Amino acid sequence: MRKKIVAGNWKMNNDLSQTQDLLASLKTQVIPEDVSVMVGPSFTNLYQAFQSLKDHPIEVIAQNMHQSSEGAYTGEVSAPMLRSVGITTVILGHSERRAYFNENDALLAEKVNTALDNDMKVIFCFGEELDERKANNHFNIVKSQLEKGLFHISKEHWSNIVLAYEPVWAIGTGETASPEQAQEMHSFVRKTIASEYTSQIAENVSILYGGSVKPNNAAEIFGKEDVDGGLIGGAALDAQSFMAIVNGFG
Ligand code: PEP
Repeated sequence: MRKKIVAGNWKMNNDLSQTQDLLASLKTQVIPEDVSVMVGPSFTNLYQAFQSLKDHPIEVIAQNMHQSSEGAYTGEVSAPMLRSVGITTVILGHSERRAYFNENDALLAEKVNTALDNDMKVIFCFGEELDERKANNHFNIVKSQLEKGLFHISKEHWSNIVLAYEPVWAIGTGETASPEQAQEMHSFVRKTIASEYTSQIAENVSILYGGSVKPNNAAEIFGKEDVDGGLIGGAALDAQSFMAIVNGFG
C-alpha cells in the first residue's frame, strides 16, 4: 500500500511567533491515522517546530538544502545541519527554486544525491509550464525532469523518494489541474518509473499533486487512483483549511 501524504509548504511565510501560533492550532487537530501529514516552515523556525511537534504525528520538513554537505557556501544550509535539528525530509525541485534560483536538473540531481547520502527522504517536485502544456509537450517535459534529476538513483533509494507533480501554471494561481489532468499525469509518471525501474517501485512510490489544492477540491483530486495526496502552498498557512485538505481522503 502506498502512503497517503499531505505536506504543507509554508514557503517564506510566518515569523517565529506566527509559526508557533500555526503549530499550536495544528496540534489541536486530530490527524487521521492513515495519512502522513508534514509541514515545512522556514529554516529559522525548523528547530522550534521540530521541538514543538516532537511527540506529535505531524512531521516537520525542510523546503530546500544545499548540494554540499559542508563548506564555504555563505548563507546556505546543509543536509547534516537539517538532520542535527531533527529534520529528515526535504523538498527539492520546487518550481519556485527552479525559476527564481536557477536550480536546473543537474543541480537537483546533486541535491538528491546529497540528501540520500545523508539518509534523508526527498519530496521531488516537477511539472510543466503553461506554454509547454499548451504545446502538448507536458509529458516530455515531466519525463525529462525525472530522467535528469532523479533517474540516476539506485532501486534501493526509491523507498526514500516521494514525488510531487506540480504544474507550474497551477501553483499559487487559483487554477487547479482537473482531477482528470492530475490522474493522467500521475499515471504517466508511474508507467515511466515502471519501465525505467520496476513495476513494484512504481506501485510503491507516493505521487502527490500540488497546485491550488483547497478544501473544496482536495477530495476529488485525492480520489483519483494514482494521486496519493498533495503538496499544499497557500492553503497550508491556515490550520483549518489545511486540516480540511488532510481530511479530503475521507
Ligand atoms: C506549492 O507551492 O507547492 C503549491 C502547491 O502552492 P499552492 O497550493 O499555493 O498552489
